[in-house]
Amino acid sequence: MKRIAIIGGGISGLSAAYTIEKKRQSGTPVQYVLFESSPRLGGVLVTDRVDGCLIEAGPDSFLTDKPWAADLCCKIGLGDQLIGSNDSARKTYIIAKGKLVEMPDGLMFMVPTKIMPTVLSPLFSLRTKIRMAAEWFHPQRNAPEDETVAQLVERHYGSEMVELLADPLLSGIYGGDASQLSVRAVLPRFADMESKHGSLGRGILKARKKASAVANVPARPVFTSLKDGMQQMVDTLVARLDVNALNTSALVQAVIREHDGWTVSAGYRSDCFDAVIIATPAHAAAGLLLSADENLSRDLGGIQYSSSVTVTLGYDEKVRRSLPPGFGFLVPRGEGRRMLAATFVHNKFPHRTPENRALVRCFLGGARDEKIIQMNGEEILRIVRDELRQIIALNAEPLFARVYKWKSAMAQYSVGHLERVQRIESRRQNLPGLALAGNGYNGIGVPDCVRSGAEAAGKILAEMGMWSSA
Ligand SMILES: Cc1cc2nc3c(=O)[nH]c(=O)nc-3n(C[C@H](O)[C@H](O)[C@H](O)COP(=O)(O)OP(=O)(O)OC[C@H]3O[C@@H](n4cnc5c(N)ncnc54)[C@H](O)[C@@H]3O)c2cc1C
Repeated sequence: MKRIAIIGGGISGLSAAYTIEKKRQSGTPVQYVLFESSPRLGGVLVTDRVDGCLIEAGPDSFLTDKPWAADLCCKIGLGDQLIGSNDSARKTYIIAKGKLVEMPDGLMFMVPTKIMPTVLSPLFSLRTKIRMAAEWFHPQRNAPEDETVAQLVERHYGSEMVELLADPLLSGIYGGDASQLSVRAVLPRFADMESKHGSLGRGILKARKKASAVANVPARPVFTSLKDGMQQMVDTLVARLDVNALNTSALVQAVIREHDGWTVSAGYRSDCFDAVIIATPAHAAAGLLLSADENLSRDLGGIQYSSSVTVTLGYDEKVRRSLPPGFGFLVPRGEGRRMLAATFVHNKFPHRTPENRALVRCFLGGARDEKIIQMNGEEILRIVRDELRQIIALNAEPLFARVYKWKSAMAQYSVGHLERVQRIESRRQNLPGLALAGNGYNGIGVPDCVRSGAEAAGKILAEMGMWSSA
């Protein structure tokens, strides 16, 4: 019987466990033990219910275009529980000089694909509009070296586009900083389009034309989630695993390569395994692998993480009627606020609130505001309420409020990330029986994490000669 340790019980570790569990159930002689330091499984996927409203403390959904999370949900029997975002109400605002300005229709991330809405938008200056038109004729570029997202966007559209769109989008989604994040790791499609077409606008339109010629698929919602929230995925997944294999409140302090296997120490216990899958954030993996390979540990530790805070406030029907339509707003740094973004949950996922409730979810922290994680909930709430008052004139007393803090949970793929991941992978290959999973390497979203867990388990099972025996 082969034994595999899985360290970290977030969605990456659970996905690895599920892959091994399926093998085990099909008669493959393999066992696993999952170690999770906190008292609960699921990592940053946490759903609460307050006053009939469903509150997501961490991720609220995942990108429909990335299939792995939805596929896993289908495999574990949650196919009929998947829901899409209410895209008929999809409208996002940017705060410009203190006011909500609607993002023009046809923007694909920060690339304009429709002329009139962009020309008429009060968001951009005439200078940026001229840059957008000129971008259509941008020459092809095949630079060998990586660069920041800000550099690429500035080259195509100018600095206003970085400040008003690229940076707020990246900080609102990844808690990231456009002047640090790597284009090749975060927006590889854009780097590819630039080398093939020159213009990003033309690249996107060509890709769209090609996709619609291949299949006449009806438009899908941009975001997918679960009826009972992201926690539903965790609970169902956990119910499919071997209950005796799951150890919570089990902080792994050391992972030592010994003889032909690995010794894992958690608390006063040490146990021997044939293989180990480390599915923690990369900074935790760095500490665990220090004795196995110092250079590997250094590269893992070099992957930066930022902290995030989400604050959800519940309001009554009167407030709901007074709030703007749409999914929410993004706040550019230049506005001098601490809030990075806010979602009007009752519009994005209407069934998550009763009709007489409004739910406003605010996002703070990120690479440029690590300090917020040190503040207590009341101080954070005060900041959020002040800023909501100033930005959208939301003066009403909330019926309830919840603050969630996530320390060093969001990986930041800075310039050179792909090379670093390559180095990590080649050093890992020198350590038989080791696999890594999680948001530190090849994608930060929930679908990428699901894929990384399944792939890590696949690699270990393949090394053991068990992958093709399903
Ligand atoms: C606030 C927030 C909002 C987000 N929104 C979205 C979104 O809307 N859509 C989307 O797709 N993605 C989103 N993400 C990103 C995505 O949710 C995460 O990248 C993903 O869930 C990470 O999963 P994971 O299992 O790799 O890591 P984690 O969830 O961080 O789990 C790692 C686990 O390892 C455990 N651990 C660490 N060290 C040890 C140790 N030594 N021993 C034992 N256990 C250990 C930790 O306790 C933790 O439970 C969001 C993330 C955050 C924080």
